[in-house]
Amino acid sequence: MIPAIARTKPNDPPWIHPRAAYVHIPFCAHKCGYCDFAIATGKDDRIDAYLTAISREIALLGGVQQIRTLFVGGGTPSHLSVGQLAHLCSILGEWLPVQKGGEVSLEANPESLTREKVKLLADAGFTRISLGAQSFSKGTLKSLDRPHDPDAVREAVNLVKESGLVVSLDLIFGAPEQTIIQWQTDLGEAIRLGTDHISTYGLTYEKGTPLEKRVRLGMVRPVGEDLERAMYAEAIACLGGAGYEHYEISNFAKVQKRCAHNEVYWANEAHHGFGMGAAGYVGLSRDLNTRDLERYIRLCSQGTRPVFQSETLNPRERAGETMAQNLRRIEGVETGRFLEQTGFDPQILFATELERLVVQGFLETNPERFRLTPEGKFVADSVIERLMRCV
Ligand code: SF4
Repeated sequence: MIPAIARTKPNDPPWIHPRAAYVHIPFCAHKCGYCDFAIATGKDDRIDAYLTAISREIALLGGVQQIRTLFVGGGTPSHLSVGQLAHLCSILGEWLPVQKGGEVSLEANPESLTREKVKLLADAGFTRISLGAQSFSKGTLKSLDRPHDPDAVREAVNLVKESGLVVSLDLIFGAPEQTIIQWQTDLGEAIRLGTDHISTYGLTYEKGTPLEKRVRLGMVRPVGEDLERAMYAEAIACLGGAGYEHYEISNFAKVQKRCAHNEVYWANEAHHGFGMGAAGYVGLSRDLNTRDLERYIRLCSQGTRPVFQSETLNPRERAGETMAQNLRRIEGVETGRFLEQTGFDPQILFATELERLVVQGFLETNPERFRLTPEGKFVADSVIERLMRCV
């Protein structure tokens, strides 16, 4: 069978033919208590084999893929040694060249980012580094099982800024025992450091993680809903006041510093996904790679795509997904673009529920678009869930 990937053409619209690629590097120095990602710890002796497997998986597409955005995430890509990072850069340069003016990002953890690695990345054409800071409070970092200390975050931000790359910080709110004062301090410190882009995530207790287990055993008490809501409101007020554009539910950017790669996801456009556990969306088909490291390496070495699950959504399901992703953006859902992309007029497809959500004050709408109101941002998940029931 011809893989769906081979059926798209560069002139196809961006929701059919991918202009973005995600590459997953699963290796981490240790497992954080809240982590539910596809990761591998204590397997550093497999990094070289994994990089070779990545190059084979990309090569299985049948040729070089010119793209506009590339995101290397994890795991902890910065956990790779300088030599391994150089190997990765040469694979990416060969198989996934990014067009001029495109965006190339790498996720890094503060404790494993060195001056040498940043220079190598900048020389290889990376344009931004996304740092998993999470907090500037020693107590919060400890409760999340993060191995770095606040000074390591400051040093990493300065390293990236000195190299001229865009720096983005991930911050978590709603961690156990975290107070609103600590959260205000985290936001203030991220602003003071001159961070270009800030992603704020409410902590979730994913089933099966050590932190969720500690909650079940009564060893850890999650913060209340009211406090979590107050923290999110604080992020919006504080970052907005400091000149950051709130362009997606969880994301804030200085002028021209939005993450173009993530905007592809929120537009529900096509993208490649390479590596263990990576998800791709190509030619209207969604593929999910195996999360088993050895299986991933073995399948790629045999010349077989390491896909664990593949599905093609029907048109209504695709419309529902497009709405769910678009609504995360502060500009919301554009009626004309949605119609072109999905074949459905969203003002008709979601008509009944849209009207209710407008009356309840969670959505605002006009003939061109609909989007979340300030109140709607606090209950975005339930708004999206209600609209999804229409398809
Ligand atoms: S560093 Fe990130 S990916 Fe690795 S274990 Fe911690 S949260 Fe998970």
